[in-house]
Amino acid sequence: MGIIVQKFGGTSVADSEKIKNVASAALREKNKGNQVVVVVSAMGHTTDNLIKLSKEITLKPSEREMDMLMSVGEQISMSLLAMAIQETGNDAISLTGLQAGIQTENCHMCARIVDINPSKIKKHLDEGKIVIVAGFQGVCEDNEITTLGRGGSDTTAVAIASAIQADRCDIYSDVEGVYTCDPRIIKTAQKLDKISYEEMLELARVGANVLHPRSVETAKANKIPMRVRSSFKLEDLGTLIIGVEEMELNKPVTGLACDSSQTRIVICDVEDKPGNAAKLFNLLAEKNISVDMIIQSYARQSNNTNDIAFTISNDDLNKFNQIKEEIYGIVNTSNIHIDSDITRVSIVGAGMIDRPGIAAKMFNTLAQEKINIKMISTSEIKISCLVEKQYKDQAAVALAKVFDLDGAEIADVKGDLPVV
Ligand code: ADP
Ligand code: ASP
Ligand code: MG
Repeated sequence: MGIIVQKFGGTSVADSEKIKNVASAALREKNKGNQVVVVVSAMGHTTDNLIKLSKEITLKPSEREMDMLMSVGEQISMSLLAMAIQETGNDAISLTGLQAGIQTENCHMCARIVDINPSKIKKHLDEGKIVIVAGFQGVCEDNEITTLGRGGSDTTAVAIASAIQADRCDIYSDVEGVYTCDPRIIKTAQKLDKISYEEMLELARVGANVLHPRSVETAKANKIPMRVRSSFKLEDLGTLIIGVEEMELNKPVTGLACDSSQTRIVICDVEDKPGNAAKLFNLLAEKNISVDMIIQSYARQSNNTNDIAFTISNDDLNKFNQIKEEIYGIVNTSNIHIDSDITRVSIVGAGMIDRPGIAAKMFNTLAQEKINIKMISTSEIKISCLVEKQYKDQAAVALAKVFDLDGAEIADVKGDLPVV
């Protein structure tokens, strides 16, 4: 007998028929003799609608109350799913994050899970029930409700899988697996049979929202075999996410992703002296504003200043605007430019390690499309370029073509990669 954790996203539980379909998917695993935990997201666009409602009341809601509001969505779907399973004559119980023992850090709207006490989940599993857990939520000190950040139900599922030592964690969604790029942007994107945790983590971080980045981090750390599969084609195996050591690296680039949810901040004429960057980024960290790409320019000899550019999430822009005066005080300038008309286009591939020419090929491709690059950042297995938002699709299509991510089947070349 195995232990399986299944997670169903918003589209998979969007209406009562789909909830009944999820009940069948859970029973399908249970009838194979497995113990089954199901993690659910909120129905359809419920979370978006709750956020919209809050905006009709205030543009500066307290984060605590936002968590009280947003955590409601998952509780609707979990109870309806429990009823759907009970209706078939089988036993099921739904649990909130608190009841499921999900403890998070003391922070609202983007809390990390710090511990799970799975005793209640295990007790119900041992009693033969299918256990349904509300995704995306937990509790911090004093049992205050927290949420894990948008898309966080994936992380709930993997964290539970690791706490109960599940044999597998299946993430069911409206796509048949992980593709080389978002199939909504590139229709001919290819489904991958396998992808490494490392590549999936980078892709998720740079905008492939098919998985919440922390779910991949958790699966990697705890070696949980994870699959992304379709809730509408239950028999399909989807995409398996495994360690990079088990992969054959056939191509330098495995996938690409676009992210239009970032804002670029450029602070010009910052005095070039020790401590300025530290004070600035300490303040941002204190306010819980996470920063992504960071670039500091070469200091100008004429007036001993440089420019610091970085990106933050659009969701944090309000918080940033509230501390602008404090920032002026730190950097001793009010010459700050804010630009939300940007998209980050990234290519990811473990096969690009030690392979010269990949960055040049990416920049050449954008140049041929006459797309200006506003900022560049790299990691060992990723290259990201910021471009104007209007060029998102054009850049993605051109890069997918050049790096062999669309059209023809993915080549199954063994042995050494050609140097590109
Ligand atoms: P769920 O509600 O099931 O969690 P999400 O909307 O969060 O679903 O994630 C699924 C969506 O992720 C797909 O509909 C797809 O458009 C998008 N997506 C982005 N990048 C990729 C990718 N590389 N492979 C598959 N889907 C992707
Ligand atoms: N319902 C939450 C969201 O829409 C969490 C999730 O779906 O994973 O972000
Ligand atoms: Mg999701």
